[in-house]
Amino acid sequence: MPAAVVTGSSRGLGRAIALRFASDGYDVAVNYHSSDEAAAQVADVVRERGQEAVVVGADVSDPDGASRLVETAADAFGGVDHVVNNAGIDQHVYTESLSPGDFDRIMDVNVNSAFNVTKAALPYLEASDDDPSVTNVSSILAHTGAPVECHYAASKGALISLTRSHAGDFAPEIRVNAIAPGHIETDMTADRTPEEKAEELAGIPVGHFGQPEDIAEAAAYLRDATFVTGETLNVNGGERMG
Ligand code: NAP
Repeated sequence: MPAAVVTGSSRGLGRAIALRFASDGYDVAVNYHSSDEAAAQVADVVRERGQEAVVVGADVSDPDGASRLVETAADAFGGVDHVVNNAGIDQHVYTESLSPGDFDRIMDVNVNSAFNVTKAALPYLEASDDDPSVTNVSSILAHTGAPVECHYAASKGALISLTRSHAGDFAPEIRVNAIAPGHIETDMTADRTPEEKAEELAGIPVGHFGQPEDIAEAAAYLRDATFVTGETLNVNGGERMG
């Protein structure tokens, strides 16, 4: 069976991606940072869908944690065919109040983690015969910027540059793409006030927020899209048209 590593798959987008990959016939390494019970439940559903799962608690911003995640997956499944670098955090702070440590932490978790996990997985991806791929989860804010979270927007912009760089670096063996989600309803966006939600909704032409399954659909497409590499797929209900 082909196998995938999905970082940050205890909740939100990563959970939906892990479950979609299981439905599509992939064994899945479920990674979390602190939500061990939620991660175990995701693994149970993967198994209910007929696939193998391993659960790995690891801070993927730490190169050792990233290596342990990949090695555990490779040991369990006999290899790694696809990586989805999804783990991420955000923080709403204007630059005036933003500390260098906070800036570094966002870059570590959102960018360095993708480098760490991709690098650790390279030997396995190179050995894969399943048209191996890496998909990095960026954000619409990579394109628009975000005054109240400049470090988050910068980290997501860096992920798109990393994606293009790795797509060229690893061709023709490994395809590398990014997804830039708009507003998706997860814990990360649950703190919006009704007024903020109404304002955001007014800028989304399809008239509703996205669901984690919308991003899982995009991840499945990029996993299977043999002629697509170095691309960023915008999944945002048309928000960038506005
Ligand atoms: P979420 O619900 O907050 O889930 C974040 C996931 O990342 C959790 O599984 C969390 O694990 C994991 N994680 C955080 N730090 C980690 C670390 N250092 N090592 C390993 N795992 C870590 O967020 P989400 O909304 O699903 O977002 C997923 C990705 O999509 C992020 O990269 C985010 O920036 C991006 N994104 C989200 C939206 C949106 O509207 N939701 C829009 C654009 C982009 P624990 O459960 O253990 O904490």
